[in-house]
Amino acid sequence: MKYYSTRDKTITISPSEAIIQGISKDGGLFVPKSIPQIDDLMELTKLDYRELAYYIMSKFFTDFDPSLLKEAIIDAYGEKFSHKGVVAVEKVKDSYILELFHGPTFAFKDMALSILPHLLRIALKANKVDKEVVILTATSGDTGKAALEGFANVEGVKIVVFFPEKGVSQIQKLQMLTQEGDNTFVVGIEGNFDDAQRGVKAIFNDREFNEILNRQGYILSSANSINIGRLIPQIVYYFYGYLDLLRQGEIELGEKVNIVVPTGNFGNILAAYYGKKMGLPVNKLICASNENNVLTDFFNRGVYDRRRKLKLTSSPSMDILISSNLERLLFYILNEDDAAVKDKMERLNIDGYYRVQDINIEDFYGDYSTEEEVTRAIRDVFVNYNYLMDPHTAVAYSVYDKYRLRTKDDTKTIIAATASPFKFGKKIADSLGLNSLDKDEFQILEELGDRTGLKVPEGISSLKDKAIRHNNYCSKEEMKDMLYKFLKVGEGHD
Ligand SMILES: *Cc1c(COP(=O)(O)O)cnc(C)c1O
Repeated sequence: MKYYSTRDKTITISPSEAIIQGISKDGGLFVPKSIPQIDDLMELTKLDYRELAYYIMSKFFTDFDPSLLKEAIIDAYGEKFSHKGVVAVEKVKDSYILELFHGPTFAFKDMALSILPHLLRIALKANKVDKEVVILTATSGDTGKAALEGFANVEGVKIVVFFPEKGVSQIQKLQMLTQEGDNTFVVGIEGNFDDAQRGVKAIFNDREFNEILNRQGYILSSANSINIGRLIPQIVYYFYGYLDLLRQGEIELGEKVNIVVPTGNFGNILAAYYGKKMGLPVNKLICASNENNVLTDFFNRGVYDRRRKLKLTSSPSMDILISSNLERLLFYILNEDDAAVKDKMERLNIDGYYRVQDINIEDFYGDYSTEEEVTRAIRDVFVNYNYLMDPHTAVAYSVYDKYRLRTKDDTKTIIAATASPFKFGKKIADSLGLNSLDKDEFQILEELGDRTGLKVPEGISSLKDKAIRHNNYCSKEEMKDMLYKFLKVGEGHD
């Protein structure tokens, strides 16, 4: 299996090289040259999560030593997950909630970031790279903590996380600022997630800077969802969810399901799309956005237009105007025409928008939820079905509710639940009508626990007593300087 760039198919590399590089040198994203097919789903129902993970990942990471890949999977999806099945499927009303938040940081980012450090370690060794790797990450809240957790104290790696200072929840922020590990560096930036992501991309594309780093013994890599080392592990749970329904007799072999995904950078739903391409029986992929509804417009009108103001919502991990991974879908929509993808991406960069003529995106349905709809969904689902959703999941739930009313489609549906509600206590408390005024986050969580009868996860309640270890803030222009400071390279940058 080889991978090539969405903007230039002559750039072809191995899976392990693609994981090391993260993004292609021409700015494109790596996609597999062919899509492996799954034929016998019934056979796969016998596998547990890890076995399934190996089955799928080994088809994409073909230059990995099988025994090393197996070990990596066993370590990644072991005790760190609080649910023994790794992910859980809960029936709520008549849909199935695929809970992806049972990992160490309580967000679905753990599904991939608990294995990415292993994949990178194996890839570096296989490619005889003897440099120290600097993982550069922009986060809208959850990637940062999950990456820090995954890479903390990993030998030969440093990890740097840039987060929008005002754009994350209180708990998300504390999770990052209290991160332990000498190889970790957390920086709050003045600006939003798109600024952080743009800054990180600019650093990747700065040849001169990269050469300076190389001379000092460093290479840069990415933990963002553009890395195939994140994308591929995310395919696994869509198969797992489907197979679980099959095992429970909720669906029949070959029966198609809808999949609803609360979407920001388009990584999670893209993994479901790859699942479909591999033979998973999927009817519609429902792309649910919050009020930053760029993708909704794209699916309904064929225009991707970032020329609008970013709104801060209660689902911060989806407060994004430039969904990086959409480039991969675009590549397929444009019949794998790399020159056309390059052109659209240039248009987006220069003009702020692009248009795709006569697109065939039947696989997808796009819609968004307003803040009030999210509040109502959280409350109604709790009151009527005794199930507590986080605001991201509530975006998906509400979009699905509207979809069903509008289309009368009664295909069985899986909804991806991407975070623990206790990461977003204030919004949940407000939605349930609890008074959160003048209360600190931990008081709110306690009351929320009492009201719902659910236990606040220890990893969240214990943040209260943890020391703040990171106190770095900068403007979006100063990101490179911060990196210099952390790595202590160059002159006058100490
Ligand atoms: C990152 C994130 C999302 C969005 O996922 P994408 O892959 O960026 O589309 C949704 N919900 C939560 C809780 C997240 O952390």
